[in-house]
Amino acid sequence: MKLKAPINFKHAIIAITLLSLFLAACATSPTGRRQLLLFPESQMAEMGVAAYQQTKKDTAISKNPQSNSYVSCITNAITAKVEGNTVWEVTVFDSEQVNAFALPGGKIGVYTGLLDVAKNQDQLAAVIGHEIAHVTARHGNARVSASTVTQTGLTAVQVIAGGASSEKQQLLGLLGLGAQVGILLPYGRGQESEADTIGLTYMASAGFDPRASVELWKNMAAASGGKAPPELLSTHPSNSTRINKLTQAIPDAMIIYNKAQSQGERPNC
Ligand SMILES: [Zn+2]
Repeated sequence: MKLKAPINFKHAIIAITLLSLFLAACATSPTGRRQLLLFPESQMAEMGVAAYQQTKKDTAISKNPQSNSYVSCITNAITAKVEGNTVWEVTVFDSEQVNAFALPGGKIGVYTGLLDVAKNQDQLAAVIGHEIAHVTARHGNARVSASTVTQTGLTAVQVIAGGASSEKQQLLGLLGLGAQVGILLPYGRGQESEADTIGLTYMASAGFDPRASVELWKNMAAASGGKAPPELLSTHPSNSTRINKLTQAIPDAMIIYNKAQSQGERPNC
């Protein structure tokens, strides 16, 4: 019998190398989910910044002082409670889209259309907290890592900063700008649920009433029957299970909220 040991040995080395690469890239999310993260955070931040600059070029920016100070007031109260040293920036886009996003690198966008569905500061805080949670839980990284869009030899950042291409659309969609570029890439159920949980903590520690999150998603569901369904729902699918889970999480969030209020966290945006 001819021994094939050398080949098997080589295969074993390759397998071990691949496995260790995978293990090195496989990280635990804040709520304990395992996710494959292939990109360093610095590179994700570059992608986020490039996508943000693109969005600012393509979409009108609101000049309404009331809307701007209202959205900034809510965003700043929340980002003050987010761990890490990211410097967050928010832009209000003048668009009927019922939508918002947050990108790696600390870039947040709120569309004026959302202000009709998120009817008060607490409901808007629920959306912003949820979007920020997608970033801090590194869901964009997981989505880009799981995709095969950057196999042309160009880096993902180059693709985003470059001219129009289907790859670029895909990448923007994976970063959470799906509705913006007309491409439907919804977050997974696990990611949505995780963003809800973390988002509740953020809004509550900033002194926003977490019960408003349930109202917000009910408003979204009601608005989805209209002529123009909320864009936010195309990338953040919601259903009664989600609303039930959020409702169950409210008692814990109320403890955080009451503590924050007693410590003087009473935003009045
Ligand atoms: Zn979401």
